[in-house]
Amino acid sequence: MKALKQVQVSRRHFLSGTGAAAAGSALGAFGFGDSEVALAQAVRPYKLAKATETRNTCPYCSVSCGMFMYSRGNVAKGEKAEIFHVEGDSDNPVNRGTLCPKGAGVLDFIHSKQRVTRPMHRKAGSDKFEPVSWDFAMERIAKLMKDDRDANFVEKNGDGDGVTVNRWPTMGFLAGCATSNEAGWLTWKVTRGLGLVQVDNQARI
Ligand code: SF4
Repeated sequence: MKALKQVQVSRRHFLSGTGAAAAGSALGAFGFGDSEVALAQAVRPYKLAKATETRNTCPYCSVSCGMFMYSRGNVAKGEKAEIFHVEGDSDNPVNRGTLCPKGAGVLDFIHSKQRVTRPMHRKAGSDKFEPVSWDFAMERIAKLMKDDRDANFVEKNGDGDGVTVNRWPTMGFLAGCATSNEAGWLTWKVTRGLGLVQVDNQARI
């Protein structure tokens, strides 16, 4: 039996190497025999060989599985990037390359016509939401938060015992599960620092 050669092959090189043109030499490097090489050469080029691979997190549930998203189109050249394939991130310790049926179908969500990709605002008295800039949205949210906090902040217990509580009881905050540890830490620091009591997270783990 032919001994396997010890070679360092990255995931990217392996995926590229499994294209029909390069399959022979790549498999040869792995120590496969002529029949396996011939078979690989008959296979059509691997569809992900020229795709851009981007790591992301599944947006659906609190498990936060890691994903590889594959896209075509070079944004640097003015082309529109389009995701055409998604699979589980084999290096992610949460899911080790697996996805549940919902996550495996995330392409439908990505390309859904109903997907909201920009902040939306409904003016007072209007019956419809309209797209606005992120600057507008952030300023609007910050102003509403400040107005509400100024009006409803509770510094001391209302029962006259004089205990300082510094509560802001009229607003809630729901954090996402797809953020990093650092973003989660900052979220808690900011919201608790403002006195928020109702702070929840999508994660249930
Ligand atoms: S792939 Fe499934 S289990 Fe994983 S985060 Fe997405 S919805 Fe949750």
